[in-house]
Amino acid sequence: MMVRIPDIQYETLHPDGTVTHVRTLRQSSLKACPFVIFDPSHYRADETCKCDDATEQVRMLRDWGYTRADFRRVGITVLAPKGPGRKVQS
Ligand SMILES: [Zn+2]
Repeated sequence: MMVRIPDIQYETLHPDGTVTHVRTLRQSSLKACPFVIFDPSHYRADETCKCDDATEQVRMLRDWGYTRADFRRVGITVLAPKGPGRKVQS
């Protein structure tokens, strides 16, 4: 029996009950990301993930705690320039 996995819908729910910024991400797109990242901003308009994008890699390393070894482990070339590592934003 085939079980249909639902797509994921993101939205902004406001205190008055209205909803804006509705966006749907197919489950298959989410599962195609080697890290299965749930943040919709990690996906392009065509729903491919940005793990192979240098700017996104910088964000992932700096803000999300991923390491260069994490990328290598899943077979992604690290394009982000080498830097001092995680920084605390002031
Ligand atoms: Zn990804």
